[in-house]
Amino acid sequence: AKEQGKARYEVFDNSLRDRALLRLEIETDLRRALERKEFEVYYQPITSLKLGILSGFEALVRWNHPTKGRIQPGDFIPICEETGLIVPLSNWLLKEACQTTRSWQLKYPEHPAIRMSINLSAHQFRESQLIQEVESVLQETGLSGKCLKLEITESTLIDNLDTVTEIILHLREKEIQFSIDDFGTGYSSLSYLHRFPVDTIKIDRSFVSQMQAEENSAIVKAIVTLAHMLNMDVIAEGIETTAQLAQLRLLQCEYGQGFFFSKPLNKAQAEALIASSPKW
Ligand code: C2E
Ligand code: CA
Ligand code: CA
Ligand code: CA
Repeated sequence: AKEQGKARYEVFDNSLRDRALLRLEIETDLRRALERKEFEVYYQPITSLKLGILSGFEALVRWNHPTKGRIQPGDFIPICEETGLIVPLSNWLLKEACQTTRSWQLKYPEHPAIRMSINLSAHQFRESQLIQEVESVLQETGLSGKCLKLEITESTLIDNLDTVTEIILHLREKEIQFSIDDFGTGYSSLSYLHRFPVDTIKIDRSFVSQMQAEENSAIVKAIVTLAHMLNMDVIAEGIETTAQLAQLRLLQCEYGQGFFFSKPLNKAQAEALIASSPKW
C-alpha cells in the first residue's frame, strides 16, 4: 500500500510539473505570438430571431501555434489576463475586427448595418487607455460607432462599477453599444441590472442548453422579461437545437447565436455568408 501511495504521488507530482512547464512555455510563446502574427480572428454570426436574418458577428480570437497547432481561447486568454498580455492582444483584435467590418460594409453596401461585437477584459478598464484606443481605431478604420458593440462580463462590471460606468457612458456618446456577456453566471445579477448602462444582455449558454427543464426555461423567461422592462435587447448564446430556437422566439428574444446557426467562421467564410445573405 505504501509503494502504491508513493507511485501515485510521483505521478501527481510529474503532472503538476508538466502543467507548470506547459504554462511557462505557453506564456513565453504568447509573448512572441503577436509579432509573429499567429493570432487569427474568427467571426460567429448573430441572427435576428424575429427576421431570421444575419445581423452581425462576434469576434473570437484563435491562436495558430507553430508547433502545437490551434489553441482555443480558454487555454490562453486566462494566461493573457494574468500577465497583462490581454491588453496588446485586445487592441490588435479590436483594430483587425473593425477594419474587417468596414471592408465588408464597403464591399457589400446592401448590408450597411453589419455589427461587430468584441469581448473586453477587466484589464482594459483598469488601464484607462480604452477610450482613446477605441476612438482612434474608429477613426483609422472609418467604422461608425453604432456598428461596434462591446461585450463586458458581469464581474468586470460589478467589480469596478463606477469606473466602468463612466467609461461606458463616454463611449456611448459615439453610439457604441454595450452588452453584458454570460449573463446569469455571476452573482447578484438581477439586483444590479438596472444600474448597468447597457443596450443588450447575452444569456449564457448554460441556461439555453438546459431550457427543456421547466425551471430553466422559467429563468430564461424571467431574464428576458426583466431585460425588456429595462429597455434592453436579449441575445441568447449557445443555441444548438430547433426546440431551443422555438422557445426563445416565443419569449421574444431578439437575437441568437450558436452552432444551430453557425460555428465561428474564418474571415473568408464570414464574408461568403454576407455575400449570400438577403439584404435588410
Ligand atoms: P464567450 O464570449 O462566451 O464566447 C462564446 C463561446 O461559445 C465561443 O467559444 C464560441 O465558439 C462558443 N459557442 C458559440 N455557440 C456555441 C454553441 O452553440 N455550442 C457550444 N458548445 N459553444 C458555442 P470560444 O471561441 O472558445 O471562446 C471562449 C471564451 O474565450 C469566450 O466566451 C470569451 O470569454 C473568451 N474569448 C474569446 N475570444 C476573445 C477575445 O478576443 N478577447 C477576450 N477578452 N476574450 C475572448
Ligand atoms: Ca462574448
Ligand atoms: Ca458569452
Ligand atoms: Ca458563455
